[in-house]
Amino acid sequence: MDKILRINMSEKAGPTFKEEKNEKYSGMGGRALTTAIIASEVHPMAHPLSVENKLVIAPGLLSGSLAAMSGRLSIGCKSPLTGGIKESNSGGQAAQVLARLEYAAIILEGMAPEGELYQILINKDGVKIEKAPQYKMLPNYDLIAKVQEIHGDKVACISIGPAGEMKLSASSIAITDMEQRPTRHAGRGGVGAVMGSKGVKLIILDDAGLKNREAADPEKFRAANRKFVEGLRTHAVTGSALPAYGTNVLVNIINEAGGLPTNNFQNGRFPGVSAISGETIADIETRRGANPTHGCHRGCVIRCSGTYHDKDGNFLTKQPEYETVWAHGANCGIDDPDTIAMLDYLDDNYGLDTIDMGAAVAVAMEAGLLKFGDGEGAINLIKEVGKGTPLGKIIGSGAAVTAKVLGVERAPVVKGQAIPAYDPRAIQGIGVTYATSTQGADHTAGYCITANILKVGGFVDPLKTEGQVDLSRDLQIATAAIDSTGMCLFIAFAILDQPETFQALIDMLNAFYGLSMTGDDVAALGKKILTMERDFNKKAGFTALDDRLPRYFYTEKLPPHDALFSVTDMELDSVFNW
Ligand code: SF4
Repeated sequence: MDKILRINMSEKAGPTFKEEKNEKYSGMGGRALTTAIIASEVHPMAHPLSVENKLVIAPGLLSGSLAAMSGRLSIGCKSPLTGGIKESNSGGQAAQVLARLEYAAIILEGMAPEGELYQILINKDGVKIEKAPQYKMLPNYDLIAKVQEIHGDKVACISIGPAGEMKLSASSIAITDMEQRPTRHAGRGGVGAVMGSKGVKLIILDDAGLKNREAADPEKFRAANRKFVEGLRTHAVTGSALPAYGTNVLVNIINEAGGLPTNNFQNGRFPGVSAISGETIADIETRRGANPTHGCHRGCVIRCSGTYHDKDGNFLTKQPEYETVWAHGANCGIDDPDTIAMLDYLDDNYGLDTIDMGAAVAVAMEAGLLKFGDGEGAINLIKEVGKGTPLGKIIGSGAAVTAKVLGVERAPVVKGQAIPAYDPRAIQGIGVTYATSTQGADHTAGYCITANILKVGGFVDPLKTEGQVDLSRDLQIATAAIDSTGMCLFIAFAILDQPETFQALIDMLNAFYGLSMTGDDVAALGKKILTMERDFNKKAGFTALDDRLPRYFYTEKLPPHDALFSVTDMELDSVFNW
């Protein structure tokens, strides 16, 4: 994985590419690499949709090997949604295939002339860039069906739907899963709009004839991998709860904790929760012949995903994740799993972030455009986005824009990005992460639900402020490092609780690269990444005032605990003091 592929979309005679040896960024993968490239090659004041921005697609350090869980792909750019640096992370098959093709990163630079659309095919024989006007405004499922007709069902695809082509700031980039369905998404921050601005619709990755990447010390690597998998299988969350119910196992738990944002963050409990719980949805999937336990890429042993069938037993979408079930469910007052599944399908098909879409629809409900609980109205609203109507373009630009246009004060966003499925008044630690993350509101950036709610890695009372800053800081550092390995973040449950599983991960990295890293080196990597990101954001104009939650979280009490967000500004400003 020692090559970087630079594709310049601006050339007059058509896009050109060059391969270069990865010297400047050597030893980096995933988020470390996307962050380093964006920080060093993109002007912080560049317009995110301009010729100056770049889109970096990078597998992790262990991707393409036999390491379990190593199929996460990092996509980086300057974000059209937040105006800051962005790393959006996805599962699916692409990371493994790209790594086997020996690329540490693809960098899309410049932009194609207005109206031109391209596809890029990469295989063992080289790189081919072709005009693709036939795919204009095609939704992701239709697009991938066409690819399948031409290239078969073994290739991995990275694509945008109509939302990305329209350069909407809540648009995602889709990655195909094991069954070649466009169900996995780098959802956050409008990365799809940046790909659309470059004029790239589709990247097809074909690793036919190529082998897995080999470790420097194969024996030690295999032994460490075995130990790592054993640790994942033993832990209650990664070994039992996630495989059985997926991430949606959290709906009942977070509702019980009073932190499930309901009706646009007006309540912490949703009366319809039992109809949309992980247990209920897994039961529906089983009864309809779908699969409630499914991996998003080969080599995943947790398998938190699944498939969802409609009432007639036909595949409708992947198992909606907790974030989607919350965003389109509780947050919109919708308690019908089939409606939520349809919304999940539409988001995937048009190429939209389900979190920002659910938040935007809820804001529209609060504005009176439709009523809370109106499932059909929500479906129609998302269809407006697919059609590109003026209203659809507003919704597709995310919750912040929707709230501004519709005059709604309660806009649940930080740095322009929608707050995910945990109310920070009832779970203070995650509020610290939302406020201070370099990425805008992002639960995955420092997932304090671990110690606040799940009692993983210790316990910090979610309703108190004590210990939250330390918790968020430690998790933000660890996450930045994990995001660089290509590992799915859900390994964190096991490595936080089981020192031997954490050691197995380090042993795997050491055996693969012939290194002798320690836990301290991993923490140092996390700090380095966050420092680069903070520095970029500062140069892009962010100040300490951007590291705050919207005011209403400090003034409007959240039932049932009547809680307010109480972590002080001074405490928030100390998160990155290490
Ligand atoms: S645990 Fe879930 S998100 Fe993580 S790699 Fe497996 S299926 Fe994908």
